[in-house]
Amino acid sequence: MNESFCDPLWEAFYEGHPLRIFCSSFSIFPYYQAAELLVQKILQYIERDLIIPYSPDLIENYLTQRGIIIEDKIVDSSMLECSRFFLSACEPENRLITLYPKAIMKQAERISISAQEARAILLSHEWFHIIFFELGASFELVFFSESERIIIEEVAARMFAIRILGYALHPTVLDGESPPAGFTADSGQRER
Ligand SMILES: [Zn+2]
Repeated sequence: MNESFCDPLWEAFYEGHPLRIFCSSFSIFPYYQAAELLVQKILQYIERDLIIPYSPDLIENYLTQRGIIIEDKIVDSSMLECSRFFLSACEPENRLITLYPKAIMKQAERISISAQEARAILLSHEWFHIIFFELGASFELVFFSESERIIIEEVAARMFAIRILGYALHPTVLDGESPPAGFTADSGQRER
């Protein structure tokens, strides 16, 4: 089992997740375990044509070459009033990843990583959702409820992102507990 298994940061992610109340487990353990297996499967799949760890400055190019559309959205002031803190989102069926550079910059600053690193983490995270969708990987999670599947996919996306970039950071690094003023932390909801 991975060294980050069941540590306080993962527990905090799970306890703070809006779908937590719909989950039957007392701890994140079974979801973490399922996510770990899922990540292994998807890594095996992509390792056929990708050397891991992958350089953060190349990931954008790599994804674009694979037909993934990356869109930067400048958050307007009305967005700042929003109760959700958007860093990134994706539409797997359209192979579209949306990034929110302003919010990313603020969050990166807050946790002392570069905006480029944060961007690479988010791109990898959203890419995971696209692969998950395209491989029909939810089939792997048939024994879990819809809420549990969402949490497992989010845990897996976070693990995957950190792992393919080879970062010595915790996978929940961008799930800040105290987001920048005016924002509510991204709690890993379905918006991805
Ligand atoms: Zn996500």
